[in-house]
Amino acid sequence: MDVIFAASEAVPFAKTGGLADVAGALPRALQAQGHCVSLFLPCYRCARQAGVELEDIGIDLRIPIGPRMVEGRVLRSKLPDSNVAAYLIDQPEYFDRVGLYGEGGSDYDDNVARFIFFARGVIETIRALGLRPDVVHGNDWQSGLIPAYLRTLHADDPAFAGAGTLITVHNLAYQGLFWHWDMGLTGLDAGLFNWRQLEFHGKLCFLKAGLVFADVLSTVSPTYAREILSPEYGQGLDGLFRDRQADLYGILNGIDPDAWRPANEPMIARQYDTATVVEGKALCKARLQELAGLDRRPEVPLFAQVGRLDPQKGWDLLAEVADRLLDHDVQLVVLGAGHPKYQAMLEDLARRHPGRCTVFLTFDDAMAHRIEAGADLFLMPSLYEPCGLSQLYSLAHGTIPIVRSTGGLADTVVDATPRALSEGTATGFTFVRPS
Ligand code: ADP
Repeated sequence: MDVIFAASEAVPFAKTGGLADVAGALPRALQAQGHCVSLFLPCYRCARQAGVELEDIGIDLRIPIGPRMVEGRVLRSKLPDSNVAAYLIDQPEYFDRVGLYGEGGSDYDDNVARFIFFARGVIETIRALGLRPDVVHGNDWQSGLIPAYLRTLHADDPAFAGAGTLITVHNLAYQGLFWHWDMGLTGLDAGLFNWRQLEFHGKLCFLKAGLVFADVLSTVSPTYAREILSPEYGQGLDGLFRDRQADLYGILNGIDPDAWRPANEPMIARQYDTATVVEGKALCKARLQELAGLDRRPEVPLFAQVGRLDPQKGWDLLAEVADRLLDHDVQLVVLGAGHPKYQAMLEDLARRHPGRCTVFLTFDDAMAHRIEAGADLFLMPSLYEPCGLSQLYSLAHGTIPIVRSTGGLADTVVDATPRALSEGTATGFTFVRPS
């Protein structure tokens, strides 16, 4: 099949979270199964600096954003070590910026125009290249308008005559909500602004556009697919998911073994596999303790948490227990970037427990690998978790995950109950009540 995979971030071009890992790995995995996949993403500043060759392929984009005609170009590249073509939608005014979606904790105030441009740019590029996709697969709100355009403005477009559409929800908390007057910028019929289609509590909702117009919906774990049918997890869209339940699939994410297997990772102190895990992990732990300025003591349990500094990831639960935990002879390393409130909480924690707790308040991919390899126990007490990749990376590194049993965490970590231990199936520790 010919598959178009549109995403707002993909490794190695741009990354803020797990979507980038999936968008960098899934197209390669599909291609290896004999499909022909083309990846589409915006050409952010970081994509230009990713060290991957980008070639201007001479396509002029002219996209109407309300009354304004905005021009752009298309750059072609490849996912490393693959034949997957990557097309980067280039519009420097929109995308040549420090952040992907915002800076300093605030969203860019023209995100509506940026992702209209992206959605229409993807469609125009497919037409210009003469592609005839069987599947157009969008991801999250940034691609939400694509199915809406295909089923309305492009309903009779021969380029998409055979195309089915799919939207995957990686995190329902991000919906792409905009001022109702922004509807005029989309070029879509104003009549679509109603509660059954693009309107969500008086706002224009890009994710809802995708969920309403796509043929099939998926999310990234079976448990999250069930959870979002309920008001507790549905973020106001649970009624829509219940309506479309017959078309909704929960498919667990996998991990990219080339990137996240300790035998392959160049940045960790010692590569290891199941045969060499004992020595390899001990060296990785010693190196991590050194990097974090902690005592090099092999016998001390080393806990770690890596993730966006967002309430979702359970930082408030960590804040509640961290002092009590660190009163014991344990060590804690945290890597996170995001909300200033959690930065301050973590800095205070490290100050109160010198030599036991170190925090790195930055985005550092190599450090994330070193932590997964060097830690003994990985904390992931998420309040909700569509899939979660970090706990899968822990499992791949012989690092024991301690997770809240929700969404993909419930689907991937088997609690160390006496029974699971005796059956040899236990893989970590889980808890349910977020207390
Ligand atoms: P989410 O997509 O909700 O952020 P996931 O667990 O699915 O959560 O994916 C998180 C990804 O982002 C992992 O690859 C993790 O290593 C990475 N990551 C998160 N925070 C950081 C950080 N501060 N530095 C480096 N990598 C990070």
